[in-house]
Amino acid sequence: MTALNPSGRAAHALQAGSRPLLTALAECEARQRALFSNATVGIALADVQGRLLEVNEAYARMLGYTAQELQGMSIAELTHPEDEPLETDYLAAIARGERDSYQIEKRYLHRSGREVWGELAVSGQRDERGRLVQLIGVVTDITGRKQEQAHLRLMGEVFRQVGEAILVSDQDNRIVMVNQAFTALTGYRPEEVMGRNPSLLSAGQTPREVYQKMWAALRERGHWQGEIWDRRKDGAVYPKLLSIALLKDDRGRLTHHIACFTDITEHKEAENRIRYLALHDTLTGLPNRLCLQERLGQALLAAHRRQEMLGVILIDLDRFKLINDSLGHHVGDALLVQTGARLQAAVRNDDVVARLGGDEFVVVVTGAATMEVVLSVAGKLLETLRQPYQIEGQVLHATPSMGISFYPEDGKDADTLMRNADAAMYHAKSQGRNGLQRFDPALNAAATERFILESNLPRALAQGEFVLHYQAQIDGQSGCLMGVEALVRWLDPERGLVPPDRFIPVAEETGLIVPLGAWVLEEACRQRQAWHRQGLPAFRVAVNLSVLQLRQADFPGQVARLLERHGLTAADLELEITESAAMGNPLETIEMLNKIKAMGISMAIDDFGTGYSSLAYLKLLPIDSLKLDRSFVKDIETSQDDAVICSATIALAHALGLSVVAEGVETAAQEHYLLRQGCDYLQGYLFSKPLTATELERLLGSLDARLCLRSAADRRQH
Ligand code: C2E
Ligand code: CA
Ligand code: CA
Repeated sequence: MTALNPSGRAAHALQAGSRPLLTALAECEARQRALFSNATVGIALADVQGRLLEVNEAYARMLGYTAQELQGMSIAELTHPEDEPLETDYLAAIARGERDSYQIEKRYLHRSGREVWGELAVSGQRDERGRLVQLIGVVTDITGRKQEQAHLRLMGEVFRQVGEAILVSDQDNRIVMVNQAFTALTGYRPEEVMGRNPSLLSAGQTPREVYQKMWAALRERGHWQGEIWDRRKDGAVYPKLLSIALLKDDRGRLTHHIACFTDITEHKEAENRIRYLALHDTLTGLPNRLCLQERLGQALLAAHRRQEMLGVILIDLDRFKLINDSLGHHVGDALLVQTGARLQAAVRNDDVVARLGGDEFVVVVTGAATMEVVLSVAGKLLETLRQPYQIEGQVLHATPSMGISFYPEDGKDADTLMRNADAAMYHAKSQGRNGLQRFDPALNAAATERFILESNLPRALAQGEFVLHYQAQIDGQSGCLMGVEALVRWLDPERGLVPPDRFIPVAEETGLIVPLGAWVLEEACRQRQAWHRQGLPAFRVAVNLSVLQLRQADFPGQVARLLERHGLTAADLELEITESAAMGNPLETIEMLNKIKAMGISMAIDDFGTGYSSLAYLKLLPIDSLKLDRSFVKDIETSQDDAVICSATIALAHALGLSVVAEGVETAAQEHYLLRQGCDYLQGYLFSKPLTATELERLLGSLDARLCLRSAADRRQH
């Protein structure tokens, strides 16, 4: 280590030339060399031009060279170009004698080209005359520390800039740090919260259990995430999604809590909205089927706990499909909205009103002590729904059919109760609608029956299981056959003859009435032509129409083609349309009826008196006759009211230029009363029941040439 300047004492010993001194010198040098080469810091000697003379292992390792390779390299070429001017200045200052040493942090270039940060102390060595002889540099590799600092700076920046609010508290949960997002979100500046407990943010609305769970999770797992309610500095309360993590030191002692949170008001609103939409019917805003299931389940649990009873009322609007189809969906929708509102207004807050879909609603009556209480609520619902509806300036009647089932008698779970209320409701429908029925186990049979009907009708039509019967209509004056009404029956191979009242409503609701009605028309025309061929008189055949048939735009065309195909004239056919159907969508119906009328076919309004006819419209309908409903005829002799209705209807019809057909005439007294009032035509069991074509032919064959049925009836009476 020749380049090293021997220490003063060693030099002195050298000069003395003594043996022991030389040994001491050698030992000293060996020590220094060991120190030099084993040092963990890099040490380098350089000449005054900054060329390396000698470096130790640590220095060479730091820069990726061998000590040999470094010898003769200049300091400048090992320095990062950006840091070179700085060092050059210092070196120059030492050379000029302005300073003896300098300390800098600088970047070296590793052999591989990467940067190495060094903390460098350089001192110049001078001879006795003060001339610079060499430079000694001691350098520590601080690359790791530098990276860490950069990392920390970055983290600090992230902490400041991140969108999430961050709050750091110490082991005693006193706030020590918050970021900008925290201030933006809570409204508190850092100095307002330092040293305080984060509970100052709480809105006091989060249930205590949530906090208990939070602390338990922190203790067990060291982190927690959840939603809590906080209050801003301005007082506004908001939900936030909070995550907390515990920070521990090397020995596992808690040092900090780190809490990150964001405002989830919007998220919550969206979530609530989605939940609301999933559980509510968009038209009426009422709970939907899914929600009902949930609420009914809860109500049943409560009823069970409190030993109370509960009523499930299923409500279905009668003939809603007809209203919807004939008046349009907007009217149907408005009706459903009003129905929902009426139901809700009629029950207590704890009761549930839900819409199952279509025109089906459910009311769950809770907290009732007895069945009577539930029944009185049901009665109230029935009453409120029976009131006329005002929709788009028109008055509409839509009666409900309701079925009730009781917990626990009729079922212990939601499914059974709903199924049984449904069966009761169908029973109410079959009992003439517009009423209320309680579940009765026998009803399941009725529901099954309806189901069978619904699923069998299409097959029945396809396999030709329908037949027409014909009922005579007679002229009041002469008592002779004027026409027949075609009435459809279903000849079910399993159950025999099924009357139309059982399946026509189902066919109307399912839409099957359109092809079925077409078949009836076709069959009636075929039969009429067959009678012509047999030489029977030219009495006309009346056919009942459903409003759904009239809604087909080309219905008049269908009828025209039918007459032509069977070689009939318009006089061979009469069409009957019920009062309620005709009044459903008056303007559209009038237009359609006008087209039929223009073909020369006569038309009758059926079941007159049972609907809510407006006389103004009646005048506009291109009809020829009214059929007085048999419910009025039935009680002519006993009910003064019905008698008056009959005579008033006849007078009214005549005033409008219409003739009147009385239906359901069963007794001579009824016949005489009706004739006295001037009734034009009569139909009923008194003259003939509906008969098959063959039976009718046989009956007609037994009459005189004028086909006088009255004399036949008289013969039977006496
Ligand atoms: P509607 O048009 O009012 O037919 C008259 C109903 O009264 C028939 O019942 C008939 O059998 C019955 N009737 C006749 N005379 C008497 C009587 O003196 N006393 C009593 N108690 N009843 C009498 P039906 O055949 O059961 O038909 C019931 C309803 O089914 C019909 O009432 C009609 O609305 C409907 N319907 C029948 N056939 C068809 C059809 O082809 N198409 C459509 N859309 N509906 C039909
Ligand atoms: Ca009829
Ligand atoms: Ca009728």
